[in-house]
Formats: sequence, C-alpha cells, structure tokens
Amino acid sequence: MTTKVKHIAVLTSGGDAPGMNAAIRAVVRSCSYYNIKCSGVFKGYEGLIHNQIEELNARSVRNIINKGGTFLKSARSKDFRAVEGRQKAYANLKKNNIDALVVIGGDGSFTGALKLSEEFNFPVVGIPGTIDNDINGTDYTIGYDTALNTVVEAIDKIRDTASSHNRLFLIEVMGRDAGDIALNAGIGAGAEEILIPEENMGIDRLIESLKKSKKTGKTSSIIVVAEGDTSGKNIFELGQYVEEHLDGYEVRVSVLGHIQRGGAPSCYDRVLASKLGVGAVEALLEGKSEVMIGIVHKTVTIVPLKEALDKRIHKHDMLIKVADITSV
Ligand code: ATP
Repeated sequence: MTTKVKHIAVLTSGGDAPGMNAAIRAVVRSCSYYNIKCSGVFKGYEGLIHNQIEELNARSVRNIINKGGTFLKSARSKDFRAVEGRQKAYANLKKNNIDALVVIGGDGSFTGALKLSEEFNFPVVGIPGTIDNDINGTDYTIGYDTALNTVVEAIDKIRDTASSHNRLFLIEVMGRDAGDIALNAGIGAGAEEILIPEENMGIDRLIESLKKSKKTGKTSSIIVVAEGDTSGKNIFELGQYVEEHLDGYEVRVSVLGHIQRGGAPSCYDRVLASKLGVGAVEALLEGKSEVMIGIVHKTVTIVPLKEALDKRIHKHDMLIKVADITSV
C-alpha cells in the first residue's frame, strides 16, 4: 500500500454501542500489522479538544473484544460543534503528529468528522457504531445485533408475566428515527403489534386490531413501541388510552431504556466490528478520506460520508407483512 499516513488516531463518539471495543481493537491491531503508529483519543471529540490522547499498541487492546461499552469512553461535545473547538482539535492532532482519524459513532459524529476534514484538509474515516441501525449505506451498524438480542431476551421475560396475569404490555424500545429494533425484536419475540417511526397505523386501528385478537382467544398481548413512534402520544399516554378503550386486560408499560445499550457484544457484532476496523485502516492507507466503511450484502464497502449522512430509505414492507401474518 502506498501511503503518507504513518500515525492514525481512533475515537468513539455519541452513544456507546456493544462492539465499539472490538472495532477499536481491530483499528489498533491493523496499525500494528501495517507498521504504523496508533493513538487512542479518550472521551470522543471532547478529548480531542483537551488533548486526551495516548499511544496504543497491539497489547493495549487485549481482553476487550468481549466487553460492551468503549474503553476509550464516549462523549457528546458541545465545543466541537463550533469551528473554534474543531480548530483546537486539529491543533492537537498536529501536535501529536497524527496524520488521520478514525471516528466510530453515529451520524452526528460523522457530521463532525466531515467538518474537521473539510475545514482543515485532515483525513477522516467513519465506522458506523450505534445500536439504532439508522445509518445510510450500510446494512448493519455495530451494536445493533447485540441490542436486538438484549431486547428479545427482555421481552421474553415480560411475556411470562403478561401471560400469567392476562396483561397487555406496551414495551418501549430504542429507535428515535428507525424502527429496525422494534420490528425485528417484535417479530422475534412474538409481539402482537409493533409501532415504528416510519409507519403510523393510527391509534384506533391499533385498538380495533387488539379487540379482534381478543375475540380470537388471545389472553395476553405484547405491543412493542419504538421510542420515535409517531402516534402523537408518549408510551404512558398510549397505555392509558388502550386501557380506556379495551376491556378485559390490565395494561402495563415497560420502558427498556439503557439496558439495550449494554452487555457483551454478540459474535456477529464482534466480527462486523473487526471487519470494519481493518477496512478503516486500509482505506486510510490507500489515501481515502471522508468515507464510511460499511457492510452491504456481507461485503465491506467504502461509502462517501456525505452519502452515509443522507436520510436512509429503508423498506420495511416485508417485515411488516411478516409481523402482521405471524400475529393473527
Ligand atoms: P448516536 O446515534 O448514538 O446518537 P451520534 O454520533 O449521532 O451517535 P451525536 O450526539 O449526534 O451522536 O453526535 C456526537 C458528537 O458529534 C456531538 O457531541 C458533537 O461533538 C459532534 N457533532 C454532532 N453534530 C455535529 C455538527 N453538526 N457539527 C459538528 N459536530 C457535530
């Protein structure tokens, strides 16, 4: 590989996701493999602004592939949103003789990376790390598969209570803009109804559908609601509405919250993170910048960051049909 890049830094930014450690490990070890220096930036862009940078070697990342969270810590940085903050970040990159930066995070982190690159002509590569699976140009983001399994396990447990008491549970899962977690975990856990941001079925249709199911002999029900659901009611208001309009069930609400982010990454996420980490270093060594390393049809791909930031057009039609058919 012909390259001017001799020293790469890596950081994690935005919400943490299981598998971020595996991605850091792959970046650090790829640098070792290709005989270039690698540094870790602690606390995302905030650490870049405050020069919290340490050199890492292959042994610095031992025993982390199996751990959730990110050992580099993550942060949301207000200062990095302003050009003055990015100027300080750039000055620290130069001070540490760093030639390129790998950013592991979501769309906000990619927007920041793109600005840094455009303003200071500094090479950046993004790795999609977010449990929401809401990034354009990649089939999967790191952390999504683990989060799905965590959600299914939690719903399975709630189902035991629901069926023992003739209860109807509304379970809120993560997904502000994308219904991927709700739909897939909902189908996997046998939910009765699934409410997602991309599709508004309307509350009255929801009640009608629940009444119909009750008539067919159902005695308990699970409704999975993505946090970005557009019914116009929050989950507690929705629960109250359902209770007022449906006889024969006790209604309960459960918000899964932050347990969805934690835990050891699944094997899928570890392998995905490893592939994308290697891909990120190789892309920088090939002189690429302002790109995201993604996975499409099982192949590692290089997507312009601008494209990764486009609104994701995701067709859920097949999953919605499967959910409808399997919940009769
Ligand atoms: P998640 O999907 O988990 O929310 P994210 O990467 O989208 O991850 P954000 O909080 O949106 O998380 O962004 C992370 C950081 O990226 C912000 O704290 C900020 O420092 C930087 N960032 C976000 N948007 C911008 C922007 N428009 N300009 C510069 N920097 C930004």
